[in-house]
Amino acid sequence: MSRFIATSAIRGSHAIVEQAEDMLKDALEKLGADVPIAFVDKEGVGTAYYLPVIYGYSGHKVEKLGDLTWPLEHAKSLLAPVPSENLWLPYLGETADAGVATLFAEEIIEGIRFAKGEQPEVNNGYKFNGPISDVQTRSWGIQMVDGSMPGFAAIIGAAKSNEVAVKIVRELQSKGQLVFLSSMSNGRSIVDQLLEEGVELGYPTFTIPFGTDTISVVYAAGYASRAAFSFGNVKPGDFREMLLYNKFRCFAFALCLGPMDDLKWATGAGAITYGFPAICDTVVPNILPTGITKYEHVVSMPFDDIPGRDDLERAERLVQRCIEIRGIKIKIPKVDIPVAYGPAFEGEVVRRENLHSEFGGKGGTCVEWLTMKDLDEVEDGKITLIGPGIDSFEEGANIPLGIVVEVAGRKMQKDFEPVLERQIHHFVNGAEGIQHMAQRDITWIRFSKGAVAKGFRLNHLGVILHTNLHNDFGAIVDKVQVTLYTELPKVEELREGARAVYHERDARIAGMTDEAVDIFYSCTLCQSFAPNHVCVINPERTGLCGGYTWLDCRAAFEINPTGPNQPVPKGRCIDPVKGEWEGVNNFTYEHSNRAVERFTIYSLMDSPMTTCGCCECVMIIIPEANGVMVVSREDYSMTPCGMTFTTLMGSIGGGLQNPGMMGHSKLYITSKKFISVEGGIKRVVWLSKNIKEEFAEELQKACEREGVPDLMDKIADGTIATTTEELLPFLEEKGHPALTMEPLI
Ligand code: SF4
Ligand code: ZN
Repeated sequence: MSRFIATSAIRGSHAIVEQAEDMLKDALEKLGADVPIAFVDKEGVGTAYYLPVIYGYSGHKVEKLGDLTWPLEHAKSLLAPVPSENLWLPYLGETADAGVATLFAEEIIEGIRFAKGEQPEVNNGYKFNGPISDVQTRSWGIQMVDGSMPGFAAIIGAAKSNEVAVKIVRELQSKGQLVFLSSMSNGRSIVDQLLEEGVELGYPTFTIPFGTDTISVVYAAGYASRAAFSFGNVKPGDFREMLLYNKFRCFAFALCLGPMDDLKWATGAGAITYGFPAICDTVVPNILPTGITKYEHVVSMPFDDIPGRDDLERAERLVQRCIEIRGIKIKIPKVDIPVAYGPAFEGEVVRRENLHSEFGGKGGTCVEWLTMKDLDEVEDGKITLIGPGIDSFEEGANIPLGIVVEVAGRKMQKDFEPVLERQIHHFVNGAEGIQHMAQRDITWIRFSKGAVAKGFRLNHLGVILHTNLHNDFGAIVDKVQVTLYTELPKVEELREGARAVYHERDARIAGMTDEAVDIFYSCTLCQSFAPNHVCVINPERTGLCGGYTWLDCRAAFEINPTGPNQPVPKGRCIDPVKGEWEGVNNFTYEHSNRAVERFTIYSLMDSPMTTCGCCECVMIIIPEANGVMVVSREDYSMTPCGMTFTTLMGSIGGGLQNPGMMGHSKLYITSKKFISVEGGIKRVVWLSKNIKEEFAEELQKACEREGVPDLMDKIADGTIATTTEELLPFLEEKGHPALTMEPLI
């Protein structure tokens, strides 16, 4: 505890308690003990909670002047002697007590002023709001509870300039914070600054002018007490519960603009007891270790030292820092893009006739990559396009695109990256006229002519991701910035980096077995496209999009327990070889709109998993070869089954169960459980060349594990065969094991 702050706050508390004592003595003499006291706002609407700070802390009801004697005595009892500035206080205790005494004294003073008819304040003809009424508190209740209005900022003092004052308030409003205005700095109040700039103040604009002195800050504490009574079901006098409610549920902080004085410090100490930190735009000692507040207690952010090109940018950063310090989770009410947005548009397809621009897909390159950074490396809401925008290309062009999403958050973990990255698909599809398919380095996005005509551009992808990540994953994500690259060499470079990360993520699950767990996980994220599709994800098979491993699903469930990734207890084992469990069957049946009754984990021929449009690969049997072929999404050539990847997808991509045909991830081919009922990788007679290359090492290991180390040489690809006529002689010449395996059908 800084001795400077402790000394100043305790000194301030002595002064204000003395002032309250003098005022009370005088008022009792002049007005008598029976004069009624009630807090009302400028419209005369009041509160049923007496003087709410005193009531909240002690349960003591103040209804008339005489009722103020006990709170005053209590405040006096909390005062410790003013410590010398040379004394180091190891803990906050005495300062916190001084803070409570200060709030009591301030509320007593306001009570007396009400008794005398001096509140709400009128200054230069302007009528301040004074305390907030219960009616108003309740009308903000839903927003307080659902998180769209996370809390409040109590601004104390005045900003560096009118321009900065307006910017700070606008930034806070845009983040849904209520803004309370009090006090002065160097004879100016932020209320003057805002009024001079024509800013509307009052309940409708969420900006409440309390008064021109620091004493009026106590109305903020009173509001916090009443929020705890109304929304937290806290009983008056149960101060521990009340403070805990405020610390964890009411995201408030004090923003002190301009020089601090003893009373401001004393009041700040009172705010800290509520769990509200103070952020100062001047040089003051930091009190960083957390204790009473959730994070830091007092943070100094000298305005002129905040990095930024100009004062407005500095103001924005100041507010951003406040939000971080308080751990406020921001909800952005609407996705601010020129086309409609919502789940109704998720399943929408953009056909070639309506195509304006395309990214990835046939002949294109599109990569999406979400990565975690430190809080100070990410500027929330920053969206940057590097390279030409879509207007520089001809209509119908396939434009290279790299989407890099950088997120930061105090609770963010590396393990959550794939979970958040996989949401890109779902988020982007919500935009009208925009289609997103697949993921990772095989992403394929289309913009329709209609969307582009309405003004949709690449940066809007960033807006969509920023908004939704905050809204849906606010519990772990504090900041999101998005960079979009459209120059091919840069996108290719990115793809290399991203691929290394994808392989790292996949490797984390290596070594885990299905037998070692009792629970598999579901994924129903793709039901907007394929309503009956359920991915069941076991340690030895990733989701068919390749984006989700069992570990990712577990993380996703942890983040969002009611989300699309649910635990699927295996239940009673029906067939250990085919991998059929009662629990899995029941789950799939319930979640596939009762379309899928049975489901095996290890077989291609008997009730395989359903397939949605996201799969990285499709496998299908080639009866003539007594084997299966696997074609990847990146392979556009004809295949020995007589169909291209696209045609195959057209027949199974809608969530159907097709014995002999199944979508899956690339990684699955290397799994020990890869169609183990049908003989595993030894059944593969044809495999897209790009997979052979990308997974060369892993495939080699799998072949060795299965006892056929030279298997890869025996498996054909598009350069060897695109028809069965070409395929069969090759297999015979190489002596492919499938030819002598048990008949598939
Ligand atoms: Fe989830 Fe499966 Fe869709 Fe991947 S393909 S997102 S695992 S439902
Ligand atoms: Zn899908």
